Amino acid sequence: HKVGENPQLYPDTLKKHLEFTKGLVHTRFPPEPNGFLHIGHSKAIMVNFGFAAYNNGHCYLRYDDTNPEAEEQKYFDSILNMVHWLGYKPWKITYSSNYFDQLYQFAIKLIELNKGYVCKCSADEIKRNRGVDPVTGQPGGERRACEHRELPISWHLEEFKKMHDGVYQPGEAILRMKQDLQNPSPQMWDLIAYRVLNATHPRTGDKWKIYPTYDFTHCIVDSLENITHSLCTTEFYLSRESYEWLLDQLHLFRTAQREFGRLNITGTIMSKRRIAKLVNSGVVRDWNDPRLFTLESLKRRGFPPSAILSFINTLGVTTSTTNIQASRLETAVRRYLEETVPRLMLVLDPIEVCIDNLDDDFELDCELPYKQGNDEFGKRTVKFTNRVYIDRSDYSENADDKSFFRLTANQPVGLLKVPKVLIFKSVEKDTDGKITRIHVNYDTESTVKKPKTYIQWVSNKSSIPVKEVRLYNQLFKSENPAALSSEDFLKDINPNSEVILKSALIEDNFKEVVAKSPIVTESLKKQDFYVSETTSASGNERIRFQAMRTGYFCLDYDSTDNEIVLNRIVELKN
Ligand code: ATP
Ligand code: MG
Ligand code: MG
Repeated sequence: HKVGENPQLYPDTLKKHLEFTKGLVHTRFPPEPNGFLHIGHSKAIMVNFGFAAYNNGHCYLRYDDTNPEAEEQKYFDSILNMVHWLGYKPWKITYSSNYFDQLYQFAIKLIELNKGYVCKCSADEIKRNRGVDPVTGQPGGERRACEHRELPISWHLEEFKKMHDGVYQPGEAILRMKQDLQNPSPQMWDLIAYRVLNATHPRTGDKWKIYPTYDFTHCIVDSLENITHSLCTTEFYLSRESYEWLLDQLHLFRTAQREFGRLNITGTIMSKRRIAKLVNSGVVRDWNDPRLFTLESLKRRGFPPSAILSFINTLGVTTSTTNIQASRLETAVRRYLEETVPRLMLVLDPIEVCIDNLDDDFELDCELPYKQGNDEFGKRTVKFTNRVYIDRSDYSENADDKSFFRLTANQPVGLLKVPKVLIFKSVEKDTDGKITRIHVNYDTESTVKKPKTYIQWVSNKSSIPVKEVRLYNQLFKSENPAALSSEDFLKDINPNSEVILKSALIEDNFKEVVAKSPIVTESLKKQDFYVSETTSASGNERIRFQAMRTGYFCLDYDSTDNEIVLNRIVELKN
């Protein structure tokens, strides 16, 4: 680590820096509030907050709000919520816009040092002067200073003042850094420091007509905030030179920028513009649709934040970009839920089963643990009666199918934790040939020793209806929708990415699970990266359970006191 690599150059900047930091690591997570955070950002959050915490240091949340045109209050709010949701607490919350006055003074200073100049070239001229053919976009031409670059300092000061005062329209004048046109890195070819924008800023309103760029702002604010390690993704590797150049010109403490590889998830898209297209065309419900990979989506879908953190931790931090299949994230979530949530019985597509040899007033309380092998979750009872419901897929009319272990005309089946098995008698069908009811006998005499398998069930006295169960599958048909054009990716939508079931029944102990949630057991607290979750207003997403033989589910935000809407978080198996 090379903080203040050149301390002999500006000894008092290092001294002041150390007085502030007391030698502790200071990092920052610097999102642009122009969209919702996605799974990739959780790596940047974990790297910055985690590195600071590991070293007993501090991490800022800094809103990098220098592009007023795209910024909105809802993004500011969501970003903070997501940082909290992942279990991190910013040491301080700051805004690049807090420094607009100081940045403006630094820009003037840069001009005075003959290291900044106002340029009135057109975009095409700027390209040509950088050796890029504006028509073909081909680089490699001769690089030249423009006519403005060597005008007197006083002219640049005056012109910059005019930019500030609103004399120019966007594109008519910019402030550039006077760097090194002969440097091999394009990141040193007189980057833009300030541009004119006719935009109202969410925090500074109409105070400014000019706004600083990322290249001008980021290093200065890092230095002003005494950031020790400016950790960013590898696409900024080449920017490191200009980052250091600017701080050196202004005699500011030189924060060390270091880079780590981005986390990409395949099989989905994370670009803001493309997600906006999905939302606007009604393909998904909203930015928090459980099929997307924004953090708001993953939260709504019931992914525990600690499962996300332990997943990211397994990937490690290197400089290479990691491309991970969405299914690997799901595997991590499944493994986590396996140990941490109670179990219930849910019948997705119920079919009524009449047990003809039991009376209408027959009742048997069947006791079962909320989680086999873990007493912390306690026990529950489910009332068994002569009217039960099983899943339509657990009965087959093909009695010869040797690979089918559940109920058929000549194969009995067990109900989970019910002492004796069910033996098939007959089915009733409607005019379309759809089975409406199955008749069976309860094997009171124990003629069957052991059924091939046991299935989940509910009874008419132990179930509540579920208004909607939403099952999610991958949103795109292809594995790399991000590579498709912005028209074609909309044609790649999997028509079964959301399947909605409207007649499911859930065991009535669901009410108890809801009342007890969030269920924080000792084994949950022992999980790696356990975080005590902050919730949405409803807290619904924390009500998670395993539906036996069916999958992991949570309560969706659309649920009300009287209507249950469930999201399938992940299936039981890959
Ligand atoms: P996007 O283009 O997806 O909006 P961004 O880089 O513009 O991403 P910012 O809001 O500027 O998004 O990101 C804040 C921080 O998060 C930056 O330091 C950025 O490098 C990091 N980051 C963004 N995307 C990823 C990713 N996929 N993996 C790891 N870090 C990321
Ligand atoms: Mg950015
Ligand atoms: Mg961005």
